[in-house]
Amino acid sequence: MENCIFCKIINQQQHGYIISQNESVTAFLDIHPVTEGHVLVVPNEHVEKLHNMNNPETVTALINTLIDTANLLVKSNICTDYSIIQSNGKYAEQDINHLHFHIIPRHQHDEVVFKLDTNTNAALEDNLMKVFNDLIKN
Ligand SMILES: [Zn+2]
Repeated sequence: MENCIFCKIINQQQHGYIISQNESVTAFLDIHPVTEGHVLVVPNEHVEKLHNMNNPETVTALINTLIDTANLLVKSNICTDYSIIQSNGKYAEQDINHLHFHIIPRHQHDEVVFKLDTNTNAALEDNLMKVFNDLIKN
C-alpha cells in the first residue's frame, strides 16, 4: 500500500527502529510508546484486519515473532511483564490500517489503563445464550 506508514518502514522507505525482520514479519519500536520498549509486530504483507490473514506461514511467523520479541524484552531487562494489544477497525480504535500487535512493557504503578468493563446487558443469561447460539450455528 502506497501511503501506509508501516509498509514504508517494512520496505525501508521510511526510517524505523527495526528490531527484527524476516521474510514475513517485522518488529519495530512504536514512536509513540505507551511505556519504554513498546514494540509493534506486523506482517510484511499489507493486511488490514486479523480475520483477513490467510497465509498460514505468516500467521506462524507472527506468533513466533511475538514470542521472540517478548523474550527479547525480558532478556534485555526492559520488563518482566507486558500486555499485547491488537485492534481491528475504526470502532476498535485501530489507528493504522495495517494489522499490528502492540507489545507494551508493564511495570508496577505504570498507570497504564485498559478499561474492559463488563457490559451488564450483554452479560444477561438470555443475551449470552443468544450470542452463543448465533455463533455455534455458523
Ligand atoms: Zn501497510
